Amino acid sequence: MSGPLHFVDRIKRVEEHLRESGLGAMFITPGSDLSYLIGYHAVPLERLTMLVVTPNNDPFLIVPRLERSAALASPFGSTGWDVISWGESDDPYAIITNRLSGLSGTVALDGHMWADRVLTIQMRFPSITFVSAAPIINAIRIIKSPDELDHLRAAAAAIDRVHAQVPLLLGAGRTEREVGRDIADLILAEGHSSVDFVIVAAGPNGASPHHEVSDKVIEVGEPVVIDIGGTMPSGYCSDCTRTYSVGEPSREFMDRYEVLQRAQVLSTQAVHHGAQSHDIDAAGRIELTEHGLGQFFIHRTGHGIGLDTHEEPYIGPDNPTVISSGMVFSIEPGFYIEGQHGARIEDIVICTPNGPETLNKQTRDLVIIPSS
Ligand code: ZN
Ligand code: ZN
Repeated sequence: MSGPLHFVDRIKRVEEHLRESGLGAMFITPGSDLSYLIGYHAVPLERLTMLVVTPNNDPFLIVPRLERSAALASPFGSTGWDVISWGESDDPYAIITNRLSGLSGTVALDGHMWADRVLTIQMRFPSITFVSAAPIINAIRIIKSPDELDHLRAAAAAIDRVHAQVPLLLGAGRTEREVGRDIADLILAEGHSSVDFVIVAAGPNGASPHHEVSDKVIEVGEPVVIDIGGTMPSGYCSDCTRTYSVGEPSREFMDRYEVLQRAQVLSTQAVHHGAQSHDIDAAGRIELTEHGLGQFFIHRTGHGIGLDTHEEPYIGPDNPTVISSGMVFSIEPGFYIEGQHGARIEDIVICTPNGPETLNKQTRDLVIIPSS
């Protein structure tokens, strides 16, 4: 489990980064960065909650009075650092300006802060320059700790248990929406605390990578792309795609699927400490291109995953990011042929010192469900 010590260490690393980059402070509002840094999963509300980290003094957390007990119950509450609550008639921004009265130079704001907060802060600190905190926080979040890797393994196992049951739900005559509802129930039943997305894309709908569900009836011979994910009680996310077929698909689809399967293996095998993002992308993309499918692979190969489903590092062409052990990301090539069909195979992969560790274990073969 992630005790307070863990979070103290993350704050210390932010402080170090602030000193190295000569920043005066970092302000973080509710979201995954706040969860990551102090283990406080605050709901974004109109009332201000803000973590303030400075290079040389203790961090403090500002919360509305009615959130005080929740904040104290989080790991931040046991660090001994200040939790300052404000009442309905107080001005929470005045607490910050008072505590940081000598503040000058540049301050980093979390990348997902609401614009009205940013504008208020700018007004209250007219002589300060603001930059995004994203480069600093992402540089820390991009390398997962052993605890985080275990949370991601558990998330992958949970979504695998859902995929294992998909063949029982798929059948000719059912609509994408009906199948999608059953899958959403299973995502919760298998241990997630929330359903993040359910894509059930049958036949021609498979040609749209982010199609969700529709009232389309699944027909015999149609491939069905199923891309699903949720968030575990730990806060960590799952994301896995498998492609199924209700009855035998066309020969043409099978041939294309075999190429895709090889491409997915090639990109996964290209994962190693020191590899560049674009090399991992190219390994699979070349295979698709050599078989006439390159033009139908219309997205990047993958994205990092952690407390967010999409985070650094991104795996794509022209992306020079150097991959290191401890990074976790998806490998999910696909092909999308408008008016016909589509397919995608997606696994979450850890880059370990010895190469790739694939977290999703369900077969990557096309799963053909008997149509009668
Ligand atoms: Zn996905
Ligand atoms: Zn994904």
